[in-house]
Amino acid sequence: MKLKYLGTAASEAIPALFCQCDVCRKAREKGGRHIRSRSQALVDDSLLIDFPCDTCWHMVQNGLSLLDFNHCLITHVHDDHFSPEQIAYIRRGYASVLPENYGGFHIYGSEDIAAPLDSILQSAPDRLFCHPVEPYAPFMAGDYRVTALKARHGTPHPYNYLIERNGKALLYAHDTGHFFPETWDYLASHPVHIGLVSFDCTFANSTRGDAPRTGHMGMGDNILMRDKLFSLGLADANTRFVLNHFSHNGPDVDYDAFCAMAEKEGFAVSYDGMELIF
Ligand SMILES: [Zn+2]
Ligand SMILES: [Zn+2]
Ligand SMILES: [Zn+2]
Repeated sequence: MKLKYLGTAASEAIPALFCQCDVCRKAREKGGRHIRSRSQALVDDSLLIDFPCDTCWHMVQNGLSLLDFNHCLITHVHDDHFSPEQIAYIRRGYASVLPENYGGFHIYGSEDIAAPLDSILQSAPDRLFCHPVEPYAPFMAGDYRVTALKARHGTPHPYNYLIERNGKALLYAHDTGHFFPETWDYLASHPVHIGLVSFDCTFANSTRGDAPRTGHMGMGDNILMRDKLFSLGLADANTRFVLNHFSHNGPDVDYDAFCAMAEKEGFAVSYDGMELIF
């Protein structure tokens, strides 16, 4: 299985719009891995995760076309992950020529995605397909067996996803705080070996709190979550752990500084364009 990060920032990106803090200034000066666009990822050049406002940029930067994929998982309806305004360009008059026998673009997510997509579905019923899915009930998205897990985040019904194919598994944990007990219960009762875990690390080098962190996490929380995955037998020494979804406001979030800190704890740090095979 391959995971490619197309965008790795929290909502305001790095450099953040309208900000000239040290992190944003350095990003503008140095470019490269210091630049982070809004969250999106691609599994095996085939399954898209999230559809933010930066989707056009991601396609162009990576030599991709949205016509190369037919399936997209939406984690939640914050606009750094879900932009109905951009999805609307699938309509006639905007997408003027499509491949013959185009299979359509299938979007999966919680019930929260249905209303925002409604008018697009009505005007492109043969092009866009919306699939609201229930948590903890595996479904197929193309060739992938996907399970939505309830996330602890600030929208009505946010999801994280367990994505499986040919005996490999990816846990995509964005955006979320510590998992709810029911998510842990589900994972504990459905043992699988997870080859790669992508953890929300919006708060970068922040230590864990006493109470379960809500909304987002920092590296201290990621360590707690990793220990729990180990204790449940879902992850082991062969599992790769990647920290992702960064805010310019996170302590020590500077790419160079944070990489060194994360490496000491056994974590990799994402960057736009990073590819991992597991
Ligand atoms: Zn986000
Ligand atoms: Zn800033
Ligand atoms: Zn969010």
